[in-house]
Amino acid sequence: MPDYRNTDTATWLKWDQQHIWHPYSSALHPSPVFPVSSASGVRLTLADGRRLIDGMSSWWSTIHGYNHPALNAAATNQLQDMSHVMFGGLTHAPAATLGKRLVDLTPEPLTRVFISDSGSVAVEVAIKMAIQYWIAQGKPQKNRLLALHHAYHGDTFATMAACDPVNGMHHLFNGVLPQHFFCDAPATPFGSEASAEDMASMRAQLEQHHQDIAAVILEPIVQGAGGMRFYSADYLRKARALCDEFDVLLIHDEIATGFGRSGELFACDHAGISPDIMCVGKALTGGYMSLAATLCTEAVAQGICQGEAGVFMHGPTFMGNPLACSIANASIDLLLSDDWQTNIQRIEKGLNQGLAAASELDDVADVRCLGAIGVIEMKEPVEMSSIQPRFVEHGIWIRPFGKLVYTMPPYVISDDDLQTLCERMVAVLREEAQS
Ligand code: PMP
Repeated sequence: MPDYRNTDTATWLKWDQQHIWHPYSSALHPSPVFPVSSASGVRLTLADGRRLIDGMSSWWSTIHGYNHPALNAAATNQLQDMSHVMFGGLTHAPAATLGKRLVDLTPEPLTRVFISDSGSVAVEVAIKMAIQYWIAQGKPQKNRLLALHHAYHGDTFATMAACDPVNGMHHLFNGVLPQHFFCDAPATPFGSEASAEDMASMRAQLEQHHQDIAAVILEPIVQGAGGMRFYSADYLRKARALCDEFDVLLIHDEIATGFGRSGELFACDHAGISPDIMCVGKALTGGYMSLAATLCTEAVAQGICQGEAGVFMHGPTFMGNPLACSIANASIDLLLSDDWQTNIQRIEKGLNQGLAAASELDDVADVRCLGAIGVIEMKEPVEMSSIQPRFVEHGIWIRPFGKLVYTMPPYVISDDDLQTLCERMVAVLREEAQS
């Protein structure tokens, strides 16, 4: 059997293109993929030797950069003990340590932790917690969600059903997906007070359907894959109050925003509120391994277990994986050992300065930055097949979607690399406009 690691790149790349699904890829018209041979710090090295400044943190996750000595050490040390054991009936210090850290770092009412394998699963677990809670309370009809337009919560069936009903995959899987309620996306920008009108759509849905709603689910402060929209912390506070008024649970999906990305450790910290259930993932292991967690309050946990089932009905094979937990512990230690908040402010300033020039381009609709997230919104969707190679030619790794050309670099990026990254993003957009 060939071992493609020792074969010339063109050979295995051809096989890859013919047989391997990449995210949202076509078997008929495969888009080009760039072979990577290694990654270190903020640089990806392609198989042909080109080195790219990473502007994506591998989709929000590699906050400490690649090949970090502390995370490498955590992985190799843990491997000597065990890479995995089942979590049913067994437990271990890496999981207990991670659970304790998450409970300590998240808002106080969150006390119980379910450690799972990926962001989508963490959201599935959150939805199941909410529904099982209401079943146990003798209100099984409270089994629908109230989600937001422009929301994104994952690609599995339960999570797809809570994604934006227009831009998500609802029409494609109509009839299979559970039907939920939706309200307008928050329009109040970050830094502004939310008015009664801003809350009107959520209030109206809750007034009409609260008997059927288990929980409101939302991405706090930053709606990510559904439009990279930054919104008001006050909206979050008022959403919390509405959930209390109408007796529905509140789920925060912090999978993208968690661990400092928006300028606070968790995005809900901007609002000083706590959800009943919170999901984290992505940056949890510093991007080293797939791991996620769903936290809930004591009231939710007790409420679930007082019901007929007596237990929470979930238990995946790789639950609490010790290798991933050890790396997550090292990643959290690394984050907290630094003045991470000042560092995020430094990146925000660099993004604001570096991307400002994009607003002068005719085809740019908006430029906005929050924490370590910088977004250039175009007036029309970009042509991925032409723009992606241009970014690579310019030595940067940026993966746009739709109208959004955006960056969320690793937190370890230097000022010089950040400036280069931003300059080249703008240069590519200028070239595209002229071509
Ligand atoms: N929720 C949010 C807010 C996300 O951004 C994502 C991933 N893009 C998910 C859930 C799903 O996470 P995963 O891809 O790890 O399943």
